[in-house]
Amino acid sequence: MRFRWLQYLWAAPNTLIGITIGLLLGGRIVWVSGVAEIHGRWIARGLRSMPVPAAAMTLGHVVLGCTPADLDRTRLHERVHVQQYERWGPFFLPAYLGASLVLKLMGRDAYRGNPFEIEAYAVDDPSKRSF
Ligand SMILES: [Zn+2]
Repeated sequence: MRFRWLQYLWAAPNTLIGITIGLLLGGRIVWVSGVAEIHGRWIARGLRSMPVPAAAMTLGHVVLGCTPADLDRTRLHERVHVQQYERWGPFFLPAYLGASLVLKLMGRDAYRGNPFEIEAYAVDDPSKRSF
C-alpha cells in the first residue's frame, strides 16, 4: 500500500509502548508480516495477571504473547487490533478503555461487549467478517 508508512507513524506511540514493555520484560522479538511479535516468561506473567487474563495483547504494531503457540493461535484476532490501531492511532487506547468503562457502568461485559473486541472476535465467525 502506498501510504502504509503513515499507518506505522499514526500507530507509532502505541508501538513504542509495546516495544518498551516487551524489551523491559526481556521478551524475544520475531517479525511476522510487518508486526513485532514479542513473547517471554515475564510477558506471560503480566498477561495472565491482567483483569482479563490474556494469551496475547496488541499495542500498535507490537503483539505481546505468552508463548509462540499463543501468538500463532491468536494472530488473526490480534491483526484486527493492529488494523484498529492503524485507524485510530493515539486515540485507540482511550476509545477502547472508554468503551469498556461505559459498558461496565451499564452492568455489561466490559470485554466481550467492547465493539473493538466484537470486531476482532468476528474473525472466528466468517459471517461477521468486515474484510
Ligand atoms: Zn482482542
